[in-house]
Amino acid sequence: MTAVELIKKKRDGASLSEEELRWMIRGYVQGAIPDYQMSAFLMACFFRGMNEEETLTFTKLMLRSGEIVDLSEIPGVKVDKHSTGGVGDKVSLILAPIVAACGVPVPMISGRGLGHTGGTLDKLESIPGFRTNLSISEYMKVIKEIGLVMIGQTDQLAPADKKMYALRDVTATIECIPLIAGSIMSKKLAEGIDALVLDVKTGRGAFMQTNQQAVELARTLVRIGNGFGKETIAFITDMSQPLGTTIGNWLEVVESVECLRGTRGRVGDSADLMDVTHVLAGAMLVLGKKARTIAEGIEQSKVAVNDGSAYQKLLQLVAAQGGSVSAIENLEKYPLSKHAIEVKTMESGYVGEIDPVELGLSSISLGAGRGQIDDAIDPKAGIVLRKKVGDAVETRDTLAVLHTDSDGVIEAARERIQKAFRIQRTPPKQRPLVLSYVDRGGVKTWM
Ligand code: URA
Repeated sequence: MTAVELIKKKRDGASLSEEELRWMIRGYVQGAIPDYQMSAFLMACFFRGMNEEETLTFTKLMLRSGEIVDLSEIPGVKVDKHSTGGVGDKVSLILAPIVAACGVPVPMISGRGLGHTGGTLDKLESIPGFRTNLSISEYMKVIKEIGLVMIGQTDQLAPADKKMYALRDVTATIECIPLIAGSIMSKKLAEGIDALVLDVKTGRGAFMQTNQQAVELARTLVRIGNGFGKETIAFITDMSQPLGTTIGNWLEVVESVECLRGTRGRVGDSADLMDVTHVLAGAMLVLGKKARTIAEGIEQSKVAVNDGSAYQKLLQLVAAQGGSVSAIENLEKYPLSKHAIEVKTMESGYVGEIDPVELGLSSISLGAGRGQIDDAIDPKAGIVLRKKVGDAVETRDTLAVLHTDSDGVIEAARERIQKAFRIQRTPPKQRPLVLSYVDRGGVKTWM
């Protein structure tokens, strides 16, 4: 077997056997197959896809590229959540402490920024000192002690995804159901969970832009999860505008902390973010056997925010993983970007649309994401939204504020952000945030 033969085979539309996929994945993890050949292989997968059996085999091999953690000695049903990726999607930072505070252990392996979307790991690492590369024994220790742990793929856990994820980020090979399924499920199945809630985003800012594609991805993920004996539910949620009001790593941590402190997210501001968070947390509490219905779980989730226990859980997490608790307690002391530039509208009316892809890419250009694998991230960089879809605006109102240290990118980003807002004369129809969900029984409408 050679890499060229297998790239060619996939390029020409054939399916690969287990042996061939194993050879490719193992070779890449061990460094025998270089990035340029894996990039070509991923692009061939992007165009040719994989059949159902091949997708399952691919996922299994990605999972077995590393170790699988056994958390059976930890009491309770261990439940995690994963999003397929969005702009301003900081749900994990809020939801994981909520669910853990409600008594369900949450082991979580997340990824970095991917394409125009942000990643939980980059957000966590914007907290000074926070370590996401724990060894398996450290991972076990943290979840045993506080019922919550949040790390990234490591050389021990989901190493194939660690390498392939970083490569897909910079080779335009993300939006492919088998590759997404293998990436997500290999991490989730490695971490020692009993059950899983998935947030499959749909809309302009999602990797699956149509509802039909999102449902297809959700069905694939649920089938794989259930096939591995993990009860899995996938919600289809809206990503037609950024979630909440911040895009960029530390900015998103600030919004999350304020939501956990209950100072945002009740009305206006981060309300969309908190609505989605409570639904997903509610479902996790059902799978974790702490609530009988999702509605009951949503109530418990709200209580954990209101009584401060979820915020305390976040502080415990930060301390347990080496992060600065003081940075979270004193958000205002974090260094500021050199520039904070207001982007204004030249029109009046209502915000009809905010293009999340344009904002995600602008945020990357400001320093919040990577263009190449080794690019460093500026944790402070990003965008704060002052207006959301449906808000009324007057001429010269501020739509957003961009934050960056980099002088050369400001003008292009300002123009791009301004164009991302479509102003119209009449109020737009609001879209539902949660559209449907998929479980082993099929697709169900939500409320
Ligand atoms: N999230 C992941 O972990 N992997 C993907 O491929 C897409 C979203």
